[in-house]
Amino acid sequence: MDDLSRQLFEKACALIPGGVNSPVRACHNVDSLPLFIAEAHGCRLTDVDGREYIDFVLSWGPMILGHDEASVTAALREAAGRGTSYGAPCPDEVALAAEVVAAMPGLEMVRMVNSGTEATMSALRLARGVTKRHKLLKFIGCYHGHADPFLAAAGSGVATFSLPGTPGVPPAVVADTLLAPYNDLDAVKECFARHGADIAAVIVEPVAANMGLVLPKPGFLEGLRALADQYGSLLIFDEVITGFRAAFGGAQARFNIDPDLTTFGKIIGGGLPVGAFGGKRRFMEHVAPQGEVYQAGTLSGNPLAMAAGLATLRRLKTLDYDALEARTRAFAEALRDILRAKGVPVQMPTLASMFCPFFSEEPVTDFVQAQACDQKLFTSFYKQMRAQGIYLAPSGFETGMVSFAHSDEDFNRALDAARKVLF
Ligand code: PLP
Repeated sequence: MDDLSRQLFEKACALIPGGVNSPVRACHNVDSLPLFIAEAHGCRLTDVDGREYIDFVLSWGPMILGHDEASVTAALREAAGRGTSYGAPCPDEVALAAEVVAAMPGLEMVRMVNSGTEATMSALRLARGVTKRHKLLKFIGCYHGHADPFLAAAGSGVATFSLPGTPGVPPAVVADTLLAPYNDLDAVKECFARHGADIAAVIVEPVAANMGLVLPKPGFLEGLRALADQYGSLLIFDEVITGFRAAFGGAQARFNIDPDLTTFGKIIGGGLPVGAFGGKRRFMEHVAPQGEVYQAGTLSGNPLAMAAGLATLRRLKTLDYDALEARTRAFAEALRDILRAKGVPVQMPTLASMFCPFFSEEPVTDFVQAQACDQKLFTSFYKQMRAQGIYLAPSGFETGMVSFAHSDEDFNRALDAARKVLF
């Protein structure tokens, strides 16, 4: 079992650090080896050994339509026949920009990039350029990609592997990164009271999805908006996960908050490498070549990536997010009840099509509580689910994802697997 995956992983380890091209894929934190995937359709993955899995990772978020969705695959095939990169503008860039700006209440202009990391680092540069200030306030356990200024108390893989966060990052770079606990408005107030005149931006995952899934307390996001206004700092919503997932209009539509800048990734590219940053015209017009803040990319606005993103958003516009949310909640609650009936302490927050098993007696509202969850129980749950063909995120610091391709039968198979888990 796992023969080809194991062989490939051994070969990969000699060639690629840790055998993977992104750390959380490695799975050693959950005492497992990565699966090498041969193909994916709908919500099913097939590994190189021919085993099928119901996928609740969805490439860490992008595949909200499921894999190989007909309209996206057709758009890609069609685009591939027209050449793969021009280094000059193409019509789909304008069409995708129009879709994103129309969907997101906080956006008047947008610039396409190639990843979420590029989006956040560019948004920060813009905020610093516009405000002529240097400091950044971020939240402990939030993840904003792997650019230097964000690698302080970061979630996701940094949390999964308990990395100190900043080797290779000059201390001077993170010296300007201020930290506060997520959901702690008093700490944010204190930080602004001390440093407000120097804070270029506060960046937040409006729903924290890189320390497990932690929902914003009522008033938290509103409080950030008010403090940023009071001190003349920019509020950046990192919607790399929540964009087109928390609602079609992102967390900003869902919670009715108007950020100054927003960053995107994942869903916006329909499974191809796309990110974007956007916001109010008065800020975005400072981006080169209209303005003085430099930002560029050889493959930005790539025609294949734009075609996949455009097809994805156009399809999503026709689908019922409320229904998917209700189905996700029913599934997550059933999963929680099955685990609790086994005497296991578990919390199961959900939002939209995300869910997260926290093995904890108490609800989790910040990173310290997320870290206190029972990782041994998580590992045991993960391994037994995977052995039964249920593919979950291999870390307690990630969120589960549901797609429009998951059927009731898929949910039921996952619930049946959970019933068989022994703790
Ligand atoms: N921001 C958030 C909220 C993310 O979850 C991620 C990646 O998971 C990023 C930024 C970085 O995106 P990418 O991995 O595309 O660079």
